[in-house]
Amino acid sequence: MISPGKTIGVLGGGQLGRMFAHAAERLGYRVHIYEPEANGPAGEVSAHEVNRPYTDVEALADFVRACDVVTYEFENIPVAPLWEIEKLAVLHPHWSVLETCQNRMREKTWLRKNGFPHVPFAEVEAGDDLAAAIRRIGLPCVVKTADFGYDGKGQIKVSDDASLAKAVASFAKQRCVIEKFIDFKCELSVLVARSGTGEVKAFPVAENIHTRHILDFSIVPARVPAEITAEAEKLALAIVEKLDVVGLLAIELFLTDRGEILVNELAPRPHNSGHWTLDACVTSQFEQHVRAVCGLPLGDVSAVAPVVMVNILGDAWKWQGDKITGEPNWKAVLEHPRAKLHLYGKREPRPGRKMGHFTVTAMTADAALEAARKLKARL
Ligand code: AMP
Repeated sequence: MISPGKTIGVLGGGQLGRMFAHAAERLGYRVHIYEPEANGPAGEVSAHEVNRPYTDVEALADFVRACDVVTYEFENIPVAPLWEIEKLAVLHPHWSVLETCQNRMREKTWLRKNGFPHVPFAEVEAGDDLAAAIRRIGLPCVVKTADFGYDGKGQIKVSDDASLAKAVASFAKQRCVIEKFIDFKCELSVLVARSGTGEVKAFPVAENIHTRHILDFSIVPARVPAEITAEAEKLALAIVEKLDVVGLLAIELFLTDRGEILVNELAPRPHNSGHWTLDACVTSQFEQHVRAVCGLPLGDVSAVAPVVMVNILGDAWKWQGDKITGEPNWKAVLEHPRAKLHLYGKREPRPGRKMGHFTVTAMTADAALEAARKLKARL
């Protein structure tokens, strides 16, 4: 067990690192952040920050030597430097988990090999005939780059000749996966924590609504039958064991019209669809991640009220062309008796950039969603 008072290193310095640092510091840990860019959300609330590239193995080695355990909050960290520091520090989750989850092709191949339900896909190597592969899968489909994709980045839906040509022009020189387009009933996610002691706990399942590929609303409890949430949790527990994760694992799912659950993505870190736990769960996902990587007993994962989380993107600022002319109406959220506002301290709002979120609790999930939509419209 890594006791309170010790030092936790975090690779990545975004909002997930910031909220992780808050939770760790509340339990008496010191948090050190390793992040290439200066002035990030996590560094300003942590005891120490290093701004060096991930590929600077010497700087990384110095960083981890000062830590009792190291984790990450960002998936697109190159894994080769992590091999070098393996002897110097305990890294949770292990770099092999990161390696599997950061590349869509490896992730999907892992799901297929281990018999977990996933979206049907085909693999295309750089330089292969992408158009022929797309025609084999059939339209509509989604072409995604194998590496460095998130929030819909590096993906194109192909439904006609024009979008097919666009996908070929954008991706023909890269390794890609082509997925069948799933006309899902809804999207769900499960966050599951596994401690170094082997203890495992899954948070209640969230229902997620994305807009332009970016998470917009997370609704808890998910408005689906209890058999579906039970199956999603069972699947999450099986995946976290098989992948041998110590820490948090987020599993994004599609629920099809036929009641099938398909895994879309895995993320071995706290997740946007778990932000609701800060305000409406006995233990937040960030505290749970601290507990899991430090080998502490896991916290209770009961939701205390139906809740909806809404992301606040840079789009919420008032824009005239590319100039900002006004802030969001924070007062609308702050004066609501059951809403909580969280801002990440990012200095520069940009369209599509995650600047913060708010949650609102209510007697039912539908009532929380209605209140959340009204608040979002007033923001
Ligand atoms: P991803 O970056 O792969 O998580 O995709 C972002 C979002 O795009 C997902 O949450 C879905 O809303 C949508 N999406 C991705 N892949 C598919 C698919 N095969 N079929 C339908 N929608 C998809």
